[in-house]
Amino acid sequence: MLKPSLSLRRRWRLWFAVAAIMLSAAVAAGLGQIAKDPEPRWWKGNLHTHTLWSDGDNFPDLVAEWYRDHGYHFLALSDHNLLSQGELWMSAKAVNRRAGVDAVAKYRQRFGARWVDARGSAAEGNEEIRLKTLDEVRSLVEERGRFLMIPAEELTGTAGDGRSLHMNASNLAEQLVFQAGSTMRESILRNLQMVDQSAKRTGRDVLLHVNHPNYKWGLTAEDLAGVVDERFFEVWNGVDNDNDPGDATHPDTETIWDIANTLRIVRYHAAPLYGLATDDSHDHHDNKTRAVPGRAWVMVRSRYLHAGALIQAIRRGDFYATTGITLADVTFDRTARTLSLQIEPQAGAEFVTRFMGTRKGVALEGKPRRDAQGQPVETTLDYRTASGPQIGEVFAEVKGRTPSYTLRGDELYVRAVVTSTLKPVVESSELPLQRAWTQPVGWQ
Ligand SMILES: [Zn+2]
Ligand SMILES: [Zn+2]
Repeated sequence: MLKPSLSLRRRWRLWFAVAAIMLSAAVAAGLGQIAKDPEPRWWKGNLHTHTLWSDGDNFPDLVAEWYRDHGYHFLALSDHNLLSQGELWMSAKAVNRRAGVDAVAKYRQRFGARWVDARGSAAEGNEEIRLKTLDEVRSLVEERGRFLMIPAEELTGTAGDGRSLHMNASNLAEQLVFQAGSTMRESILRNLQMVDQSAKRTGRDVLLHVNHPNYKWGLTAEDLAGVVDERFFEVWNGVDNDNDPGDATHPDTETIWDIANTLRIVRYHAAPLYGLATDDSHDHHDNKTRAVPGRAWVMVRSRYLHAGALIQAIRRGDFYATTGITLADVTFDRTARTLSLQIEPQAGAEFVTRFMGTRKGVALEGKPRRDAQGQPVETTLDYRTASGPQIGEVFAEVKGRTPSYTLRGDELYVRAVVTSTLKPVVESSELPLQRAWTQPVGWQ
């Protein structure tokens, strides 16, 4: 009687011991483990990208892989007026014509026949390839804490006055249709309201930002100032010839930013805009240079690599825009009223930081800009005075890797823009040297 019961007890003990060892091994291997309170850190992401789903020239899975393999943590494929859902077949010939290379062969070479869905016949010239949906792409490239895809759509259209408006909605749960109002401002507002309603309906935080304001000279600083509920725009878009630097009669995007911020604070008693940098990449085959990946991105500070957490951080202004410069830290001490940056070193690079903004009491009488023939140009008004620019004034210029600026009290806001002596890794005709932009502070 006694012997079998002991042996049974021993067997149970052994079983428990084995189970305990397996459990601790699993924990040690990090299975299912999430740090309790991870420290906030910087995540690198691009919120503006095109694929074959609209007018980009590569398959979405290859585009997503490129970003994952180049140090990015998150990516929004933001094709024009659609979310990459449902079944879409594309003629192999049309794909290759658009790419200017044998993109279909490259696609097959990378993923093999099991992943690539084809129908028809290449020999008969009627082969078609199915574009992978966002869900399929996610299954291929996503990894917790390492790489995240954010569903997005570039709401693309024309305002009733004929001007071009593109806005990116990031973290959308449903496809939306561009809303045209009679004016640019009304159009921005209508799309913003539509996105907000969708966000409420679907329980998602959706970020809507205005894209490339100078593309086709679509937007003015007054437009961006006038819709105070819109808080985000692209201070830099990686596409060459989308006019970020402005021209003789149109201000550059940074000047637009300062004018819009000043008008918002003084005229509308509203918060300034936050600036993003994005690639807006379309050309993914190294054979074209207009809209290539890797030119411009955002760094967002958040505890988690999660769309909601990233968008919350962007809403707080806890991010910066860059074309190559990396910041270890950006802080605004609200008590001391000091904005401080820590710039990561790069071999051979020297840095100059300009602290810019506008002072209280600024003259806000804008004059129409005129072309060479003296005709008024329909664009942002000219607020420069005889004694120089009062809007977007350079308060201080600081060299080195730890620049800081303490507000003296008469600033409406201040922001920092860092310029490096290095060229961007992916060169651009519009931007000779690497730059980074932090968000306006001191306006609260
Ligand atoms: Zn666009
Ligand atoms: Zn775009």
